[in-house]
Amino acid sequence: MSIKMVYFFGNGRAEGNASMRNLLGGKGANLAEMTNLGLPVPPGFTITTQVCKMYYENNKKFPQGLWEEVLKNLKKLEEATGKKFADRKNPLLVSVRSGAPVSMPGMMDTILNLGLNDETVKGLAEATNNERFAYDAYRRFIQMFGNVVMGIDHGKFEEILEAKKKEKGYKYDTDLTAEDLKDLICKYKDLIKKETGREFPQDPYKQLEMAIKAVFDSWNNERAIKYREIHGIPDDMGTAVNVVAMVFGNMGDDSGTGVAFTRDPNTGENVFYGEYLKNAQGEDVVAGIRTPEPISKLKEEMPQVYDELLKVRDILEKHYKDMQDIEFTIEKGKLYLLQTRSGKRTAKAAVKIAVDMAKEGLINKKEAIKRISPKEIDQLLHPQLSPIAKKKAKNEGRLFAKGLPASPGAAVGKVVFSADEAVKLAEQGEKVILVRHETSPEDIHGMHVAQGILTSRGGMTSHAAVVARGMGKVCIVGAEDIEIDYKNKCMKVGDKIVKEGDVISLDGSTGEIFVGEIECIDAEFTPEFKELMTWCDEFRKLQVRVNADTPEDAQKGREFGAEGIGLCRTEHMFFDEERIPVVREMILAQTSEERRKALEKLLPFQKEDFKAIFRVMDGLPVNIRLLDPPLHEFLPKTEKEFEDTAKYLGLPIEEVKRRAESLQEANPMLGLRGCRLGIVYPEIYEMQARAILEAAVEVTKEGVQVFPEIMLPLIANDKELKILRDLIEKVAQEVFEKYGHKVNFQIGTMVEVPRAAVTADKIAKYAEYFSFGTNDLTQMTYGISRDDAGKFVNVYKEKGIFEEDPFVTIDVDGVGKLIEMAKTLGEKVRPNIKTGICGEHGGDPKSIFFFHKIKITYVSPSPYRVPIARLAAAKAAILEEEGLL
Ligand code: ADP
Ligand code: MG
Ligand code: MG
Repeated sequence: MSIKMVYFFGNGRAEGNASMRNLLGGKGANLAEMTNLGLPVPPGFTITTQVCKMYYENNKKFPQGLWEEVLKNLKKLEEATGKKFADRKNPLLVSVRSGAPVSMPGMMDTILNLGLNDETVKGLAEATNNERFAYDAYRRFIQMFGNVVMGIDHGKFEEILEAKKKEKGYKYDTDLTAEDLKDLICKYKDLIKKETGREFPQDPYKQLEMAIKAVFDSWNNERAIKYREIHGIPDDMGTAVNVVAMVFGNMGDDSGTGVAFTRDPNTGENVFYGEYLKNAQGEDVVAGIRTPEPISKLKEEMPQVYDELLKVRDILEKHYKDMQDIEFTIEKGKLYLLQTRSGKRTAKAAVKIAVDMAKEGLINKKEAIKRISPKEIDQLLHPQLSPIAKKKAKNEGRLFAKGLPASPGAAVGKVVFSADEAVKLAEQGEKVILVRHETSPEDIHGMHVAQGILTSRGGMTSHAAVVARGMGKVCIVGAEDIEIDYKNKCMKVGDKIVKEGDVISLDGSTGEIFVGEIECIDAEFTPEFKELMTWCDEFRKLQVRVNADTPEDAQKGREFGAEGIGLCRTEHMFFDEERIPVVREMILAQTSEERRKALEKLLPFQKEDFKAIFRVMDGLPVNIRLLDPPLHEFLPKTEKEFEDTAKYLGLPIEEVKRRAESLQEANPMLGLRGCRLGIVYPEIYEMQARAILEAAVEVTKEGVQVFPEIMLPLIANDKELKILRDLIEKVAQEVFEKYGHKVNFQIGTMVEVPRAAVTADKIAKYAEYFSFGTNDLTQMTYGISRDDAGKFVNVYKEKGIFEEDPFVTIDVDGVGKLIEMAKTLGEKVRPNIKTGICGEHGGDPKSIFFFHKIKITYVSPSPYRVPIARLAAAKAAILEEEGLL
């Protein structure tokens, strides 16, 4: 049995088509498709990706029969073009182009004008009656072949070329005469001989063989391997090789070459967009030697060609139902298409194009939703560094380093190397970027005031990354090329040095770090974005709430479409400057009496906090978690703080220190925290419950609709919950009696300790809802502390133990199973028990797919992830409907 190794296209008919992408590569499949559509594509043939695989299996030799197939197809190409390969009179020239199933910039560069040698070049000169053109083509070919196939540094050819131009006093390549070019060709050949010890191959068949091999070899060059690694592309996919009859854009002013997009890739506007160069070939447009003209100019210069391009634009969009990026060449007034593919676009354009196309009837709403990735939504919500300014900065050599894009957006500011310095400068109104090896909880105040955070170590779930995402701050981590010198307050990469106070710019979406200021473009809530979001709401089944501790975050979440607060932490409310002395008084109290006194002072503060949040969330549920962290987190730390506390409490400083010490714990995260606080010091939860319910009653009287939910953290045993529920109900009775007014509220629990999940049926007796605290639940199920996981998660990923970081994407087999089980157990007791997810996973698209599948009621991410969750939830519903989840 023999397999088909080569697919021909030409004269309106192709053996392949667009669905054969895996076999023919993206370029080859689309060249075939365009041929079948009747578009003007120069004829050619595609050697399949399967042959590439065979080549590797065969010790980098052509599989048997391949060369015969190539020769057969070359014959067909000769028939189609009326030219002959290696012919002295009217030679057929071809391009040799790589093309993998997915676009891969790491691959081999295209070789143009293959088939030229000392003889055929004369034939080309005669046939075209243009000697200069022929020798220019030959000169380009030797240069490309020498570089791409024979591995000689491109710069060495350029040196020779520049020397020639200088000698002759020319400015442009186009100034070179045929004679100049002939001389250059000799010099190029000498260079090749000198560098490789081999002659430049004169036999066109030999050239073709070498070029095809070079494409296959480039599949495994370093760039390509690295690119596949980063983008998760399988190594065994292989690349196809396209051999295409040459058409010439460099035959004079009625010729040219260009690139166009069927819509504006920056804005998504439905306009034809592109540029072209007159009298130029292939890469000239990209290389930036001459500045190309906008495509609108073509309308004036070659109106017929322009009209034809517009028709092509229409045909391609209707056919592919997506924005296309096309490459074309004009040879003496005749248009040829050399490539089409789905065009890369900004996030903003992606949304506009998807929504517009749905409205134009090209695609439906579901398809529009499927086309947008959560990453794009993420990008849209944050300001971005201007792509144009970035490109300019790169040309100026201002790219400093690259790290991992931990939290998206753009940040520009002065470099500081300590949190204290950050605060100092920020207070003077400066924008700062905090740069550290890595961050720790001690740096929070600095992170809080910084525009962005940059660390030289750490991964996507390092402290800096997690905290920055939570704060919605730009963050780049693991920029390992950067050496930070805290002592001399500077950082360097090679010989580039950035000192404290110097301005840098961070692109948190790509991980790029630039020296100096780069212009930003603001996040925009375009009408199309809003419309897309409402479409998502039509399809999704999961509700989306928001994690918010302040009225500002609550407001933001609401604007982003949250349907309630899924987690309102109360501890942050204690950190306020005015309150912390009272909080310390409460913690350091020796008797329940003393503690109550301090709590009474805190009550009005808490009440105001809740009232403000209720007002913002008018009409929507607000789930408030009672105090959770170990108390010592609030204790004084510095000497100054101890002094202040002692003074405030009227106690000797030694006594304050003694009391503080007695609160220290060996494993605070597993110590006196969560509901255990409420069991040991009931007065704390009592005060909080009172603050919530009084706030609820008071705003109800203002006409605000409240749906408070009171949540108990870290429950492991149903008896804990029973005791605390009784406590809250007692408080409620008192409050309602006092005001003579009742509000409906619910009591629920976090499920974050495995024991709670396992005994969820018992726990459900006292809980109207479960909220899965997936951070702690993951931590405790795996027995891995999230703060320390950074040190080994990557090793675990490399060794294939973790497919994903379980703190980012839910561990379906373990933690996920616990969640599902808890839900099922809970439903036995309370059939419609409400279930929510309030950990980081609530904003992670893959995890959201799982939560949809097991029919969780809602997810609750941080404000900026609310739209992402809406999109992911809609996608989950659509994919499920299509049987693809
Ligand atoms: P890439 O994958 O880098 O886009 P291509 O294989 O598309 O590389 O080639 C780059 C450019 O070379 C094309 O856009 C086109 O301008 C030119 N080119 C390739 N093949 C031909 C050909 N047969 N005739 C004329 N120009 C060609
Ligand atoms: Mg290229
Ligand atoms: Mg191309």
